Amino acid sequence: MPKTLLAIVAHPDDEISTGGTLARYAAAGHRAIVACATRGDGVDAKIKNDAATPETLGRVRQQELAASCATLGLERPIVLGFQDGEVDAVPVDAAAERVLGLFLALRPDVVITHDPSGGYAHPDHIAVSAFVTRAFERAGAEIGPAAPRRLYYFALPRSFGQSLAAFRERRADIRGQQLGFVGVPDELITTQIDIHDYLDLKLEALAQHRSQFDFDEHGKPKTFTTSIPEPERSALFGVERFIRAAPTVSPDQRNEREDDLFAGWD
Ligand SMILES: [Zn+2]
Repeated sequence: MPKTLLAIVAHPDDEISTGGTLARYAAAGHRAIVACATRGDGVDAKIKNDAATPETLGRVRQQELAASCATLGLERPIVLGFQDGEVDAVPVDAAAERVLGLFLALRPDVVITHDPSGGYAHPDHIAVSAFVTRAFERAGAEIGPAAPRRLYYFALPRSFGQSLAAFRERRADIRGQQLGFVGVPDELITTQIDIHDYLDLKLEALAQHRSQFDFDEHGKPKTFTTSIPEPERSALFGVERFIRAAPTVSPDQRNEREDDLFAGWD
């Protein structure tokens, strides 16, 4: 029975974090859709080349998001239209209301979003994680049969920061602050999806975000991911990692990590 996956992310290109998983389930015949909170055209947004100007950035990044989702074999993405860089200014319940509307329209079985640390404590990521979680919690009482059954957070284990200088040294310039990698305690990861077969597709989808990268002489984007050499790259990025936020996984079940978002589904 095909199921519907809905990934709700803050900015165009954040979908890449769970892109291999979405592509894998879409290829297996499930429905996979990305909803993006913003157009990615806030004050901290970067423009790396002539693909966009400050005036066109929002429109260009929506097109890049659509191209990325098409590359991954997903349905056309939905843009919620919150202001990039100001998502945390929206009251959680008001934003959750929008998400409940999405749940009613799309009837997702599984919802995926940012982990509560926001990866590197980006306030927009943290806000999206919070309002999607709130919507999930309200759904049972408010929309009954349209309520999704599972909530996952995509997450990077904190040990990546210890073992890899590239993670440790990476900084994002957000609201005048240099934000570094945070990640989640490794033991909180409940689920690992093997995406080795989709890693090339994922990098191709990433490259659709043209305005966000410098390109080398072969036309390949110079991204954080491609800066890490093989075989480390496949070892790190050939798997996407998640925390099953609801229903929760008990600590003794956690030793055996799930390898399927629908593990134990009846
Ligand atoms: Zn983001």
